[in-house]
Amino acid sequence: MSDKSSRIPVAGPSITELEVSYVAQAARDGWFANSNFYQEQFEAGFASYVNRKYAVCLPSCTAAIHLALLSLEIKSGDEVIVPDITWIASAAPISYVQATPVFADIDPKSWCISTDSIIECISDRTKAVIAVDLYGAMPDYEKITSICNDRNLVLIEDAAQAIGSSYRSRKAGSFGDVSVFSFHGSKTLTTGEGGMLVTDREDIYKRVLFLRDHGRSSHRLFWNEEVAFKYKMSAMQAALGYAQLQRIDQLVQHKRKIFHWYREALKDAKEVILNPEIEGCINSYWMTTAIIDSSLNLDKERTVTLFSRHNIDCRPFFYPLSSMPAYQSNVSGKNTVAYTLSPYGVNLPSALSLSENDVLKVADCFKAILKSNRITSD
Ligand SMILES: *Cc1c(COP(=O)(O)O)cnc(C)c1O
Repeated sequence: MSDKSSRIPVAGPSITELEVSYVAQAARDGWFANSNFYQEQFEAGFASYVNRKYAVCLPSCTAAIHLALLSLEIKSGDEVIVPDITWIASAAPISYVQATPVFADIDPKSWCISTDSIIECISDRTKAVIAVDLYGAMPDYEKITSICNDRNLVLIEDAAQAIGSSYRSRKAGSFGDVSVFSFHGSKTLTTGEGGMLVTDREDIYKRVLFLRDHGRSSHRLFWNEEVAFKYKMSAMQAALGYAQLQRIDQLVQHKRKIFHWYREALKDAKEVILNPEIEGCINSYWMTTAIIDSSLNLDKERTVTLFSRHNIDCRPFFYPLSSMPAYQSNVSGKNTVAYTLSPYGVNLPSALSLSENDVLKVADCFKAILKSNRITSD
């Protein structure tokens, strides 16, 4: 293993002997009659945690969004509204089903999809909205749900970054027809790679079970009703996820602690805005994120480079999807919040291994970067 011990990582999990022992157990006995035991245990525990009727574990959140769109019958010719600021995995599956993504602006109050922008994006072809709980924040689900109900649109909640967040006492993952989670190694709860789809609708649940396993017949062995997908999670991954789920309150508490350490240490840094927590929400702060006032002229790429010189790993705020070669969608003049915030945002180190001292070191470095830029830009 390479020695990166002196570098402060941007993301990463908390793994204890509990996880190691669950995975070892699954490696020993997650076979034969037990070959679905760990997956079913993880699914049941997860459904209960987010207060949904059904949960299906999958190899990734990308696969979960893909199956969500398929089970909701989104297809060629349909439009799906998705925020311009998110990881591409929120949008790529729209193309997998030959539908068209329409990029909505974000709300400066929540950094999540703007309800006004959703309304502006609606056309005769709109079939669905994918809302994203960005960095653990949550959008105005009350309004979004009512817009979707009024226009007969289905709603998918991409809660990949928000396990442990809540909106008006309802957990992230309990909004919309379907919600999805990611257990990628950077996420708060990890299975290495992995994802979960949750829903209260039995029709979606049954369809997803069918689609994730090659469209097999439930009553005739090796009989395939449709060409479908192979999207299953292994017993070892599920055992890891189930162990992490036992510790979820602790993991979320640590993310919130990291954020509060930063907020305290940066309280005098007036040019910096940290993650929003709108009224009635609890933000699980997957990534503590700072937006630097544009007057400092310090763009995110430069900030990431400056931190890197001090052995600190940061990440740039997501680029607007509409701005990248993958899409080059014409939103000119629209999505002004996305285009205004994105160039100056950085994700600060938020790995679950961080101590208060690590956070203070990053904050000191950040203040020094801000200070030297204040001088040079004067
Ligand atoms: C991480 C992430 C995904 C994708 O998750 P995978 O498990 O890597 O497929 C989707 N949406 C958002 C918002 C994410 O942050």
